[in-house]
Amino acid sequence: MRCDACAETALIDQPYCGAHLCGEHFRASVRERARRELHRQLPGFPGGTVAVALSGGKDSAAALSLSRAYFGRRPNVRLVAITVDEGIDGYRSSTLAAASGLTTQLGVEHVIVRTRDELGTTTDETAERLPDVAPCSFCGVWRRQLLNRAARRLGADVLVLGFNLDDLAQTVLMNLARGDVDRIGRMAPHRRRQPELVPRVAPLATIPEREVYLFARLEGLPFDHGECPHAARAGRNVFREVVWRLEEELPGTRHSLLRSRERIAELLELGPPGVALGRCESCGEPASGPRCRSCTYLAKTTTLLMPQAG
Ligand code: SF4
Ligand SMILES: [Zn+2]
Ligand SMILES: [Zn+2]
Repeated sequence: MRCDACAETALIDQPYCGAHLCGEHFRASVRERARRELHRQLPGFPGGTVAVALSGGKDSAAALSLSRAYFGRRPNVRLVAITVDEGIDGYRSSTLAAASGLTTQLGVEHVIVRTRDELGTTTDETAERLPDVAPCSFCGVWRRQLLNRAARRLGADVLVLGFNLDDLAQTVLMNLARGDVDRIGRMAPHRRRQPELVPRVAPLATIPEREVYLFARLEGLPFDHGECPHAARAGRNVFREVVWRLEEELPGTRHSLLRSRERIAELLELGPPGVALGRCESCGEPASGPRCRSCTYLAKTTTLLMPQAG
């Protein structure tokens, strides 16, 4: 099969749009899609500090490299990568090494924050104390909170996340299945600025996971291939499977789910204003109830540690 744009052999096919591309044209198409998304999600961005969440995996590696390409030539933009170390044995150390390797290669400032320092616990420790809770539930909440806190401390105007098309399609379906339409409206990319919450953008939103992987490989970006030892218990796994099967049967489903998300977000904005974020009574971070979800999980683990009466 030939590339649609030149005489080279095609390296990848894109069943959702019927295209075939060689390595060079594929890389250019990824850059173009990311550029278009950043342009659309950050209209008229005047410059400032751009924080990029960097886990050390392929998605955030690609997001950082593409952000650097997009903002790199602007003297009024400071780019900083943030990595959260959740304390996961046999996994985090190699992803941290990959993240450091990439920031050195790209010449980007790098900040590492640890749940041990910020919250006094780790994902491994809490997973042991709360065996009935899937670790991704508190780990994800804590990571999001610490990314936001670190970005805010850096004075960031925006936080770039490495969510790809598959991730976002799974999240839309997951929230629909849980009946949580409001959460679809709150998904990144953010349209509205909430106090204390650094708005998030997702440059890889229209790029499928396997294309992100291929792009990271072709660009020679250092990233870690390892999987978190807790990942098998993630509630998301069944949605990954469902989205994958839907896409096989009906190419373009992921893009349709993304369009549904956009439309739902628009409709929610037209209606009465949703819950305005307040502050958590324990830690002061943004929260939709009296206590944020991060502190709710922390309270669960510390209650277990308290000496029992009698
Ligand atoms: S897979 Fe789950 S437990 Fe592991 S790092 Fe991701 S969110 Fe945390
Ligand atoms: Zn080509
Ligand atoms: Zn809190």
